[in-house]
Amino acid sequence: MICLRVLANGAPPGTAVYNASPSDAAVRSKAADVRHTGLLLMPPLIRCEDLWKVYRLGDVDVQALRGLDLSIEPGEFVAVMGASGSGKSTLMNILGCLDQPTKGRYSLNGTDVATLRPDRLAEIRNRHIGFVFQSFNLIPRTSALENAQLPLFYRGLPWREQRARATAALAGVGLQGREHHYPTQLSGGQQQRVAIARALIGGPSLLLADEPTGNLDTGSSREIMAILDRLNKDQGITVILVTHEQEIAAHASREIVIKDGRIQADRRREAAAALWPAEA
Ligand code: ADP
Ligand code: MG
Repeated sequence: MICLRVLANGAPPGTAVYNASPSDAAVRSKAADVRHTGLLLMPPLIRCEDLWKVYRLGDVDVQALRGLDLSIEPGEFVAVMGASGSGKSTLMNILGCLDQPTKGRYSLNGTDVATLRPDRLAEIRNRHIGFVFQSFNLIPRTSALENAQLPLFYRGLPWREQRARATAALAGVGLQGREHHYPTQLSGGQQQRVAIARALIGGPSLLLADEPTGNLDTGSSREIMAILDRLNKDQGITVILVTHEQEIAAHASREIVIKDGRIQADRRREAAAALWPAEA
C-alpha cells in the first residue's frame, strides 16, 4: 500500500500508473517489484468483465463477444489465438480503444474506459496505446517518416521534434536511410516496421498487434517478432498479439484462446520459448 500511495502522489489507489504516465520506466519497474513480492496491490493493466459486443447487420445481431472476462498485468506478453470469426479483432479493437463494448466493463489502469467520450478515448489511444495491424495501415503516398510521426502531429508537437523523434523511431526498428521511402517502395516487413515505429513513437505502455506477421514471409516475421520480444523484455511494454501460428504464439509468456466470443483457455508458459534467435 505504501508503494501505491507514493506512486499515486496521494491519489486513490488504482490511479497510480495512469497518473504517473504508463511509459515511465520507474513506475513500471516499481509495479514489477510489487508484483514480485506476491502482494498484488496495483490494479491490472487491463480488466474486462462480462464484455459484450453486438454488431447489428440489417435485422441480424452478430454477437462477436459474449460475456468475456480477462485480466492482464503490466509487462505481460500475451498471445491471443482462436478460429477465424471467434472475436479476436473485436476484442483487440476494444482493448485499443478503437471501439467500445455494447455492454460490460473495460478498465485500463483502473480507469473505466467503456463509457468514455470519443475525444478522451482518442487521447488515451494517442498517449498510451500502440496498434499494429496485419495490413500495416500506412498512409499511401506518404513517406515512412511522415507515417511514423503522425501520432506526434496529432499531439501538436513542434515539427522539428516530430521529425527528430520519428527519425529515431525508424532507426530503432532498423530503417535508417529509408525515411523518405513511400510504402510502395518498401517490403512488407519494412512496412510493418514503419507501422511499429508509428505505434511506438508516442511512448505507449501497451502494444496491440493483430496478426502482425499474417502477411509476411518467415524472415520478415522473425524480424518483427524479435522487435516485439525486445520491446517487452527490455522496455517492459505490455504486448498483446493475435496470431494463428503456434511458433509466433510461443514468443508470449501467456496464451489465451477465444471461442465464440469468450475465453476458452488461458495458460501461462514458464519461460517464453526463444524459438527464434533475436538476430534474423
Ligand atoms: P476474428 O478476428 O477472431 O476473426 P472478429 O472479431 O473479426 O473475429 O469477428 C467476430 C464476429 O463478428 C464475426 O462473426 C464477424 O463476422 C463479426 N464482425 C466483426 N466486425 C463486424 C462489423 N464491423 N460488423 C458486423 N459484424 C462484424
Ligand atoms: Mg481478426
